[in-house]
Amino acid sequence: MIETLRVLEEIQRIDLEIKSLGEEEKEYLGRMEALGAELERAGKAAGALEEELSGMKEQLRGIEERIRESAERITKDEGRLNSVKNDRELNAITKEINGANKSRKQAEQEKAALMTKVQDKEAALAVRKEELRARQEEFDGLAGELESRKDGWRSAEEEKLKSRDAKKAPVRPDIMRKYEMIRSKRGGLGLVLVKDEICQGCFTHIPPQIFIMLKKGTEEIHSCPHCHRLLYAELPQAELEAV
Ligand SMILES: [Zn+2]
Repeated sequence: MIETLRVLEEIQRIDLEIKSLGEEEKEYLGRMEALGAELERAGKAAGALEEELSGMKEQLRGIEERIRESAERITKDEGRLNSVKNDRELNAITKEINGANKSRKQAEQEKAALMTKVQDKEAALAVRKEELRARQEEFDGLAGELESRKDGWRSAEEEKLKSRDAKKAPVRPDIMRKYEMIRSKRGGLGLVLVKDEICQGCFTHIPPQIFIMLKKGTEEIHSCPHCHRLLYAELPQAELEAV
């Protein structure tokens, strides 16, 4: 059984390597997913700013129209001043000019205030767009890296599966099945070392008699009573060399 355990240990090492290849890929995908969500958020924020800006610009056009109308009115009234017939008419025209001047001034003030707001929004939008560009670049970089590493992972995995297959012959099929089943349920670890009567998979005590048998290298495969992983004990160096 010591040989079985030794082979299983090698197989498990390969299985763990294959698992970590998959985890590397998952990590990339996870980072890309998070970045994708960030991109979407930043995109929406930029879109909202753009909408606000276009509303403000529309408002600005309205104000400019009012300024233009007031100026037109003033020019027209000033022209009428040349052909004024009496004081009453002069007063009426002057009153109108004053009114137009007043509303032009007011519109110009509104325009200046709105322009400041527009500039602030434009600056905020520029920051958002830069953020968006940087995130997109990061995302594209990751996607490219993932793509270029995929082939390497696939061929490494194939290689490892091949050497795993080549190794498993000495292990009895029922033991192999048990190892596989526990491995799939227990985070990739189907076989664990027992050190000082403690299972290194779940860190609980195992019965001393099992530990003694493991040390002796019995014909039987033992499982941890708590986590059910297959167990092996570290043999003294001299014994290992004798096997
Ligand atoms: Zn255990």
